[in-house]
Amino acid sequence: MESVRTIPQKQIYKAIIEAIGQIYCQSTPETKSLLNQALAIEEDDVAKDMLQAMLLNEELAAKEQLPICQDTGIVIVFADIGTETKIENGTLYSIVSEAVNDAWGKYYLRDSIAEEPLRYFSNPQKKSKYYSQPVILHLSEILGNKLELHISLKGGGAENCSTLKMFNPTATLTEIEDFIIDTVVSAGGKPCPPVFVGIGIGGDFEQCAILAKRALMIPLPDSEKKPEYLQMEKRILNKINQKGKGVQGFGGKTTALKVNILSQPCHIASLPIAVNIDCHAHRCISISV
Ligand code: SF4
Repeated sequence: MESVRTIPQKQIYKAIIEAIGQIYCQSTPETKSLLNQALAIEEDDVAKDMLQAMLLNEELAAKEQLPICQDTGIVIVFADIGTETKIENGTLYSIVSEAVNDAWGKYYLRDSIAEEPLRYFSNPQKKSKYYSQPVILHLSEILGNKLELHISLKGGGAENCSTLKMFNPTATLTEIEDFIIDTVVSAGGKPCPPVFVGIGIGGDFEQCAILAKRALMIPLPDSEKKPEYLQMEKRILNKINQKGKGVQGFGGKTTALKVNILSQPCHIASLPIAVNIDCHAHRCISISV
């Protein structure tokens, strides 16, 4: 068994600020490579133009240290915390929240969170109806004394096109795949395609949605996937792209860049399927603290 490791609050705080500093102005290296691949096979002039514009935007945002998109997103953190890991001074949530809020100030990012989700109930007397970024934090236990943080700045446009359906366990593979494909294709240009598609299969209602988001941010390596799921991902990706919605919904060969599935056991009476979409400004990073 690994020895207990105590991580100072400052170390986590600093690591998060640096991580956000890396991703607000650029998507993942894989995203850039997939956008380049999409450009290389594209024949439609409008789609080509837009892919070139996306790549130029990537380049300029990174160079000028400006947000890659005006929607700087809601902050999602998956924290995998070791059984032998101790955190000094405060809860992980309080440290992550403080770091995220300070990062927002440091990098001049847009406050994108409505304090009151039903805007009709907002207090008009309050100076600001919006406040800096509360964080969505998902905690998982891992063996050992590590702390791994997977951070995403998730835009609202893509999140809005995500969905979950409780299928009957007798549903066919075709019915399930059609639901996923239809979710992505019917979204048109709203999630700013080309998109990433995270799919959760199994668990229960809320766990399935979390699986779909984790599939977007922390996909399993292909070598660890069941061949059946690997084939399903490829089939869904091809079918989505064959529908021709294309870049920003204006047509072309690439609507989705990647499809990732995560699955979990579920109740014999249930078959939850969740689809979580992320846009081409796919801002994710994984760090070990
Ligand atoms: S969906 Fe993505 S690219 Fe589109 S506005 Fe939102 S964050 Fe920006």
